[in-house]
Amino acid sequence: MITVDYEKCDECGTCIAVCKSNAIVLLERLEVLADMCTKCGVCVKICPVAALTE
Ligand code: SF4
Ligand code: SF4
Repeated sequence: MITVDYEKCDECGTCIAVCKSNAIVLLERLEVLADMCTKCGVCVKICPVAALTE
């Protein structure tokens, strides 16, 4: 599963835009929906501040 480092995430939205499974949503904070995530790893690679880890 993908975890978010909330100390690093500035809610830029880049990961939301690249996730083909629509598994990342911005609610009160960024959330990765485990049920929707296919673990493709694209968001982990693309985050400019390395806030996502698998
Ligand atoms: S790409 Fe990184 S910094 Fe931007 S919203 Fe996603 S986790 Fe946060
Ligand atoms: S690993 Fe892939 S499917 Fe899962 S949240 Fe990231 S971009 Fe979306």
